[in-house]
Order: sequence, then C-alpha cells, then structure tokens
Amino acid sequence: MHSVSVKNLTLNFGNVSVLRNLNIDVAEGEFVVLLGPSGCGKSTLLNCLAGLLDISEGEIWIKDKNVTWSEPSERGIGMVFQSYALYPQMTVRGNLTFGLRIAKMPAPEIAKRVARAAEILQIQPLLDRKPGALSGGQRQRVAIGRALVRDVDVFLFDEPLSNLDAKLRSELRVEIKRLHGRLKNTMVYVTHDQIEALTLADRIAVMKGGVIQQLAAPLEIYNRPANLFVAGFIGSPSMNFLKGRTVDGGRAFQFGATKIDLSGYAGGAVLERDQAILGVRPEHITVSTTPSVGPSIPAEVEIDEHLGADSLLWLKADGISLSVRVPVEGRLPAGAKVHLGLDIPKASLFDAKTEQRI
Ligand code: ADP
Ligand code: MG
Repeated sequence: MHSVSVKNLTLNFGNVSVLRNLNIDVAEGEFVVLLGPSGCGKSTLLNCLAGLLDISEGEIWIKDKNVTWSEPSERGIGMVFQSYALYPQMTVRGNLTFGLRIAKMPAPEIAKRVARAAEILQIQPLLDRKPGALSGGQRQRVAIGRALVRDVDVFLFDEPLSNLDAKLRSELRVEIKRLHGRLKNTMVYVTHDQIEALTLADRIAVMKGGVIQQLAAPLEIYNRPANLFVAGFIGSPSMNFLKGRTVDGGRAFQFGATKIDLSGYAGGAVLERDQAILGVRPEHITVSTTPSVGPSIPAEVEIDEHLGADSLLWLKADGISLSVRVPVEGRLPAGAKVHLGLDIPKASLFDAKTEQRI
C-alpha cells in the first residue's frame, strides 16, 4: 500500500505551468525529501498534498483514498511550516490543543496527547510559555508538536529548519531523524538544503522547473546522478565537469591533450560522442607532484582552502577550474605543478547535448 500517491499532477497558475505531470509514490513510513532550488515548485507540491491548493490535472491519493478534492482536515496530514505559524497570544499548551478543542475532543484524551508530544519533543518545561518567550528551535518543536498531537498518518514539512542558525539546524535535523525513527510515520519534507536531503531522506526527489529530475535513494543520487542538473546540484563543492569527447569507440575520453581510459566506467554503453562531459567529484581525484603511471592531467594549484578535517585544492587544468579534496597533509602551495588522476569507476559521463547520464 502506498501512503501518498501523486498521479500525473499538473498545476497551472493562470497560463504559467508550475508543476508538470508529476508522479510520486511514497511508501508507508517512508521519508521522502523534495529538493531543488528556490522557485522550482516544492512548496506548491506540498500545498497540493495538504489540500491548500487546487490542482489543474491529476490525482492525489493518501492511504489508498482519492483525496484530490478533499478538505485539508479530511486528509490525515499534519503540516509544519518554516515560519512556525504559532498563535502568539496562546501558550504552547494552547497552541498544541487548539485544533483538538475545536474538534471537540474529550479533555482527558487531549491531555494524554499533549503529554506524549511534550515528552517526545522534550518541551514539557515550555508548556505554559507563549511563543514570544521561546527560541527559534523551541518554536519549531512546538510547531512539530501541533502536528504530532493530531495523530496524523502523514507529516508534511516545508523548510522547517531554514529560519534557524547553522548549529541549531544540524541539531534539529538529527531530532527530526530520531522522531521519524520513533514514530515511523510517512514524511514528505521540502528543503533546498542538500545536506538535509542527503541525511534525512529514504528517497530524494530532485526538482527543477516543476519537473522531477530524479527520484532515488540519497547515495544513488550522489553516485549516479541522472543528468547534469542533478550532478551539479548535489555535492559541495560541486562535481567537476570536464568537457571533451569520447574516442576509440567509447573506450577513452579525450580532455585537451590527455586521453583518459574509460574501461572502468560503471555506466552504460559510451560509444563515440563528439560532445561529452566527464563528471568527477572532488574526492575522486588524486593529486600527485610526480607524473603517475598511465595518463594523467597536468594542472596547477591556484588556491588551497584549509577546512579543518581536510583541505580543498582549487586547480586550473586546460583552462578550466577544478576542486579536489585532499587530506590536510596533502596541501600544496599556489603555483605548484601537479598531475591529476581520476577515479573512473566513480565518475559520471554525460552526453553534452541531452545532458543525460550515459
Ligand atoms: P519553492 O517552494 O520550490 O521555492 P514555490 O512552490 O513556492 O517554489 O513556487 C514555484 C513557482 O510558482 C515560482 O515560480 C512561484 O513564483 C510560482 N508561484 C507560486 N505561487 C504562485 C501564485 N499564487 N501565483 C502565481 N505563481 C505562483
Ligand atoms: Mg518554498
């Protein structure tokens, strides 16, 4: 059984198409992250699931029920917003119980649910405070608590951590992961932050321009990006892209004067293509000060960025800029002449015209 199914969903605002023929099936208990740059339609899709926007075409199913035209309150979803959306004049307890009181739930049941949510989110000492007297992290816990007390099937999160500072963001990220581990509810979580997506998701849907580019497990997306956009969007610093062509019947990649052996490439049939792009992550390039055995790419160090645990070398090779992650002891001064080796089994090859992975 699917917990959430989106079938051929299209949404137009006037004559602008914001979501285009989307399909997603979310399994019971699965954590799916919608990831993409600002304006790609993530919040719009979440609002469609929540019933806050009418869709133009397609269907939305939750727990095997067609809810396409159901009211938000009938969908069994709880939504958590970036802005918290708490009532400022009510205490935390008042905020948690408001919806339940409106629904005329018996007081003992309300008390039980508040006690459980407060325990799970560690907000017992805050119940009698008003939102104004809470930190951002505490407010977001209360906002999550409001979805929790409703005992919903599906949690929808819209950038819940974006208003928090970096340290709090990483703490609350771990808490959300723990919460999912404990509750095992289905969660659909929107973010533009690739670290949140990679760490939280069972599967990530990478979106661009209202279209899902790839829907897969985080490691699959990181290791085998479906196209150039996904490859460039995930990973920091970004994957290095070497423009060239494939030669020798697809057995080698010609980059400038260097011919790189592709026999270890783990993708599909390479063939000969006059415009191809070889994508290599910064941690999949080795730097050596002496020419290695076999072909290597000559390069020059431009900048050495020390990051604490490791170091990033920014290099110039055949007119393009490359980044390479090296151990701290592998640091090199600007101007150093080096040779680069590529880990081809971990590389991605793209057709430059279609931008699709080969
Ligand atoms: P994201 O959450 O990924 O940053 P949104 O879903 O908020 O993006 O917006 C997607 C696109 O839809 C944007 O280009 C935005 O300008 C447009 N959009 C959102 N709401 C409306 C609206 N009510 N009317 C017209 N266009 C809208
Ligand atoms: Mg948004």
